[in-house]
This record gives sequence, C-alpha cells and structure tokens, in this order.
Amino acid sequence: MTSADPIENLATLIRCPSVTPAEGGALTALAAMLEPLGFTVERMVASEPGMPDIENLYARIGTEGPHLMFAGHTDVVPVGDAAAWTHNPFGAEISGGEMFGRGAVDMKGGIACFVAAVARHIEKNGPPKGSVSFLITGDEEGPAVNGTVKLLQWAAERGERWDACLVGEPTNPDQLGDMIKIGRRGSVSGTLTVRGVQGHAAYPHLADNAVRGVIALTDALMHPPFDAGTENFQPSNLEVTTIDVGNRATNVVPAEASASFNIRFNDAWTAETVMAEIVRRLDAAARDEKLRPGRAPVRYDIQWAERPSHVFLTRNNQLIASLSGAVEAVTGRAPKLSTTGGTSDARFIKDYCPVVEFGLVGQTMHMVDERVAVADLETLTVIYETFIARWFGDARS
Ligand SMILES: [Zn+2]
Repeated sequence: MTSADPIENLATLIRCPSVTPAEGGALTALAAMLEPLGFTVERMVASEPGMPDIENLYARIGTEGPHLMFAGHTDVVPVGDAAAWTHNPFGAEISGGEMFGRGAVDMKGGIACFVAAVARHIEKNGPPKGSVSFLITGDEEGPAVNGTVKLLQWAAERGERWDACLVGEPTNPDQLGDMIKIGRRGSVSGTLTVRGVQGHAAYPHLADNAVRGVIALTDALMHPPFDAGTENFQPSNLEVTTIDVGNRATNVVPAEASASFNIRFNDAWTAETVMAEIVRRLDAAARDEKLRPGRAPVRYDIQWAERPSHVFLTRNNQLIASLSGAVEAVTGRAPKLSTTGGTSDARFIKDYCPVVEFGLVGQTMHMVDERVAVADLETLTVIYETFIARWFGDARS
C-alpha cells in the first residue's frame, strides 16, 4: 500500500502546485490516498462574494465514536524568488537527505505522515475502533474565510461530532519532539486616527499638532505591561506597527496622524476585555497634559480590524497525554507544552472539540528552499501511529 509511505505521499502532494487559492490537484491526490484505505471522501467548495471559490476536503472512516479528527491544509504560500531555489519548488527532489519543495513542512509533510500513520494502523489492526477523519482546507495561507471555519460548520450541520483534534502544523522549533502546542494567544489589531488642527510651526498655539496626540496615545498602549503572564502563557504584548503622518513640510503642523497596533494576549483576557482596556488607556492618555499642556483632550477614533482571534487553552489531559507520551516514546524527549507563536486554524476548531498541534520542524516554512529531513517524515509517521493507538486505547478504556 503506497500511502503507508510518507515520502511517496509527500512527493505526490508537493508536485501539486496548490498555491492559495488554487487546489492544484492536491485534494484530488489526497482523496486518491484515502479512498483505498476505506475513507468516504467529500469535497466541499466554499464561496464568498468577491473572493475566489475554495475547495476543501472532508474524509471519514468509521461510523462510531470515539472520533479523532486530523486537521490541516494543502494550500501553500507562493514560491517567492523562484530563481533563488536550489531545487524545483514543486519537484519534491531529494538531496542530502532532505526533500525540497513548497509545503514540505507547512504542511503537506504533516498530512503525508498522518495518512501514512493511518494506513499502517489499518494494515496492522484493521479499521480504527471508532472513527478517524481528515478536515483539510485549501484556504489557510490566504484570507481563511472559505476554509476551516466553513468546513467545520458544513460538517457539523451534517451531524459530524468530534472527540479530539490534532492539527499537523509544524510546531517544533529545532528538532522533532521539541514542542506540542496546547493553546494559542489571542490577537486583536486596530488603527487610531488622531485629528488636530493644521497650522504654522512657528504659531503652534493656533494649531493642534496631531503628532503630539498620537505619541501620547501610542505611549499609553506600550506601557505599563498588560500583565506578567499566566500559568500557561507568556505576558501579553502590544506592538505599535506603524505611525503615519505623511507631512513633508517642516514648517507645517499636521492636522492628522494615525497609528496601527496589534496585541497578542493571554488567557488573563478575552478579546472584549482587552479591547476595553485599550480604550480605557487611550481615553486616559487623551486627557493627559504632559505633551499638550492646557489643551482639550486629544480627538481620536479607533477602527478595529475584523474578526479578533480568541485565546484558547486545551485542558483535555487524555489528548495531551496520549500525544506527548507518543512523542516521548518515539523520540526519547518530553515535548514542551506551549502556547507561543502566532494563531492557527486551531482557534476555530477549539469551538468543536479539544485540539492540540504537532507536526514537523518549522525552520524553513514560507522560505526559499523549504525542505524537510526525510528521516523526520518516518519519525513523525511513527509518532502519529503511536498517538493513534494510544488515543483510541485510552478513549475506549
Ligand atoms: Zn500551515
């Protein structure tokens, strides 16, 4: 059975040029791996006005619980500077013990290994004592509108229920076995616009310099710290990402200035409470007279970016223990249970079932010459196979 070989599986997937939003043949190739194993495969196309349609895939084997979901994406980021690649980015060439190609680690490699792990499990034990499903989107690296969110809704409306989910994103910083993600920080972005009065730099009392206002407001966002961290999370952190005035004249006081910011927040907050704290800080700073003595409060408005990402922490010990036990049994190393890094589709899945993330080493993701150690593909497959056996064993006992 070829789909028991993660190297073959990955080569097939890399050769499909599935740069978001193109399907590129990747889901068709995946379906061709899963159907012979006994999976029922469905393709779900999601649409949104003004956006390209996105193809997604849902496949399940088994009709009973417990039900384990593997989630991921077959879309990849663009190649970038094609001339800078030492191997064809869609060639899956192996050189020096590494397979090169866009998506090798993020995250066709994770999918290739999980398919191989399920194939081996079935070969040895027959169909799983429960159900396994693949929830695979073609819109993770893009706007993520027609991807995991809609696919989850679509499946849930058809009665699908899951007991646990493993996302196969690359979670290991340096070596296979470093890190399992058991949660993610939340993320909120916004843009402030400060409105003053334009005037002559020599007659500032007749004007109201918007730069003074924007400095006062952004200063209040950057300190004091929002918190000191929590048991499972690092401290929340806000970064001002741009300040724009656009004034070229040194003798003119500008009337308007804007600034954008992003905060990554921990479980001491919700998106709502962190937004309220930001507004509280801005209102206090607007009244502060340090930079604007004797002035009326800074006039500003705030525009929040759409769809904040909510913070989450998985507390399902059985799921975490079976995965971290599998990692340790295979690699001899106890993985760190972490909530660091950016957001992922796990933030949508957590509304349906407990979710953890573990995949390949992420060092070359999105880079020129993205590549994976061939040995890691075999090791990750054994980890996934061990995890599947342990999770079904524990879930049924
Ligand atoms: Zn990814």
